[in-house]
Amino acid sequence: MAPLNMWPLPGAAPSRPSLLLLLLPPLFSRMQHPPPPVASVAVMEFRGSKSPFDCLLLDLDDTLYSSTIGIRQACKKNIEDFLASKCGVSEGRASALRVEHFRSHGSSLAGLLALGYDVHPDEYHSFVHGRLPYELIRPDAGLRELLLSIPQPKILFTNSDRQHARRTLRRLGVEEDCFHRIICFETMNPHLFKDERETGSSGPLPATRNVEVILKPSAAAMKMAVWLAGFAPHRTLFVDDNERNIAAGKAIGLRTALVGKRERTKEDDYLLDSISELRQVIPEIWGEQEKKGGGEHGAATTMRRDLDSIRETTPIGA
Ligand SMILES: [Mg+2]
Repeated sequence: MAPLNMWPLPGAAPSRPSLLLLLLPPLFSRMQHPPPPVASVAVMEFRGSKSPFDCLLLDLDDTLYSSTIGIRQACKKNIEDFLASKCGVSEGRASALRVEHFRSHGSSLAGLLALGYDVHPDEYHSFVHGRLPYELIRPDAGLRELLLSIPQPKILFTNSDRQHARRTLRRLGVEEDCFHRIICFETMNPHLFKDERETGSSGPLPATRNVEVILKPSAAAMKMAVWLAGFAPHRTLFVDDNERNIAAGKAIGLRTALVGKRERTKEDDYLLDSISELRQVIPEIWGEQEKKGGGEHGAATTMRRDLDSIRETTPIGA
């Protein structure tokens, strides 16, 4: 067990403060009351297990459900419709603009805010996520069972807004309290919800307003997640479908599992076709011995890693 040390567990031996903590106060200066790390409140039922992991950080979209069911495509279309209505651009230009914003700012919302558009995150998310065909997400009893079987604290770590996360989990049939914490858009960006217009003034937003958007794969987002988890990065498993996020996780010392891709990257420690392979590919989570070849599904994946030379392009999302 190796939680970071700002809120030691009862009985835990005192040790040196983590260097990571020294870098984090600026991130939390935006939060009036930053929540305590999960490590300080989680019940450590797995203490003493042979698992190399104390905690799991799990992405939501295209990780806990397949990227092929149509949600991702619908999300892209909604973003383009939003850009067309907000920026007055044509349908064709909206598609290119979405890609440009993603590359230059990490998301279309971040791009619009950086360009000075007056967009409230709630307005953006209710348009882009609120109109998704959620009925495409089917209940997944296997996923629920899998998550409940994981003894370590689990933290949902998504760039999406809280409403979308809740709605998606509900559709999947996974209870929210299956996770010790949800880190979502609102968690990472509390400063965007202090609307100066509420003070009574009207007109354009003040030029001094901080419109920086913190999202994966930025180092700030990754460090915040590690801090909120409260465990040593090298004992935290980060599961995500996006190669850039995986690379960012690896850069701060997390163990990483890339989901839904066919080719390994330099930064992933594990490769899974889907989240349903978790137990076969990473039995160490449960303190079980790693199987030779990673088990039936893992063996197939490993073979594909070696044989498949076709690199799948990272999808351009929000
Ligand atoms: Mg994802």
